[in-house]
Amino acid sequence: MGPTKNLSAVLMKKGDLQLVDRPIPEPGNGEVQIKIHSVGICGSDVHYWTNGEIGDFVVKAPMVLGHESCGTVSKVGEGVDHLKVGDRVAIEPAVPCRRCKYCKGGRYNLCKDIACCATPPYDGSLARYYVHAADFCYKLPDNVSEEEGALLEPLSVGIHACRRAGVSLGSVVLICGAGPIGLVNLLTAKSMGASKVLMTDIDAGRLAVAKTLGADHTVLVDTKDAKTLAEKIENLLGDAPNITIECSGAPPSIALAITATSSGGCVVLVGLGPSVVELPVVDAAVREVDIRGIFRYVNCYPTALAMVASGTVNVKPLVTHRFTLEQALQAFETTRTGADGAIKVMIKCEEN
Ligand code: NAD
Ligand code: ZN
Repeated sequence: MGPTKNLSAVLMKKGDLQLVDRPIPEPGNGEVQIKIHSVGICGSDVHYWTNGEIGDFVVKAPMVLGHESCGTVSKVGEGVDHLKVGDRVAIEPAVPCRRCKYCKGGRYNLCKDIACCATPPYDGSLARYYVHAADFCYKLPDNVSEEEGALLEPLSVGIHACRRAGVSLGSVVLICGAGPIGLVNLLTAKSMGASKVLMTDIDAGRLAVAKTLGADHTVLVDTKDAKTLAEKIENLLGDAPNITIECSGAPPSIALAITATSSGGCVVLVGLGPSVVELPVVDAAVREVDIRGIFRYVNCYPTALAMVASGTVNVKPLVTHRFTLEQALQAFETTRTGADGAIKVMIKCEEN
C-alpha cells in the first residue's frame, strides 16, 4: 500500500457514512489503478447506508460505497497490455471467477464467486483511487464523457433486461416504475425498436421525466386494482403489451405486470422488493405469460458503450444533481429523499 491520499466514502456501519483517508491501492497482476473521476449513486448504495444489508449481503466491516464509476488509468499492473496510463475507462463493477460453468457458458453474472464493488465484503469505487481487474475496464473514445462512462452501469441493466425480454422491432412495452432503472429500460427499449412504450409510477414527477425521455404514454398508479390499470394501459397502447419490464419491485406492480401483459408475452422482473410476494400465477400459467429474472448484466458494457458513443442512446439527461466527493453525505441524502426531482446523482471524485 502506498501513501495515504485516498479520500474514500466509507460506510462504517449501518447509518454511518464517513469520508476517510485511506491508503492508495496498488494494482496487482492483471489489474489497473484508476484515478476515479465520476461515480453515480445507486439505490443499492443508499440501501446499504440506511439498512446495512440487502438480502443475504450484510455489511459487517467498513466498506467503501459506489459502483457506477469511471476514471483515468493511473498505474498499470503486470500482464495488462490493452490499457495504458492516461486511458479513460468505464468500470464494470462485478468481476467473476472466469472458470466456473456459468462463466464458461457466457453467463458470468451468475457466477457464485463474483466480487462486486460495494457489495459486502468488497470495497466500492467512491474514492480518489481504486484498483480493478483490467479486463473489466472499457476504454472510452474521446467523444464519451466520464459521466456517460459511469452511466454505462445502469444502462447495462436496461440492455440486459431488454435482451432477456426479447424487445425487438415493433414490440409494445410496458415499464413499471420510472426511477433511473425504469428510465434506462425506456431508452434501451426505444433504441431496440419498440414501437410504443408506456411507463407507470406512483410519482407524477417521475412520469413527467419519462415523457421527456420518450415514453409514448404514462399511467399514474392510483389504485391497487390491477384489472382497472391493465384496461387503462391496453386502451392507451391500443393493445396489451407483449413485454413488461417491472422496475419498481413493489408487489402490486409485479402483479399488475402479469395481469397487463398479453397472452404469450413476457414479464421481466428487474425490481427487487420483498423476497416473497403473492402473485396471480395461475393467470400467468394459463395465458403462457413467461416470467424471467435478471441479475445485473452480462456482456452488456461493450454494447452500452457503443450505443452511447454512436449517439444512439443519450443518457446525459438522467443526471439531475452533481456533488463533490467531500459532499458525499449530501449526495446520498439527495438520492434517499429524491429531493428536487433527483434521478441520478453524480459525485465527482477528481479534484479540480
Ligand atoms: P427507484 O426506487 O429510484 O425507482 C423505483 C420507482 O418505482 C420509483 O419511481 C417509485 O415511485 C416507483 N414505484 C413504487 N411503487 C410503484 C408501483 N406500485 N407502481 C409503479 N411504480 C412504483 O429505484 P431504481 O434505482 O430505479 O431501481 C429500481 C429497482 O430495480 C430497485 O428495486 C432495484 O433494487 C432494482 N435493480 C435490480 C437490478 C437487478 O439486477 N435485478 C439492478 C439494478 C436495480
Ligand atoms: Zn465463475
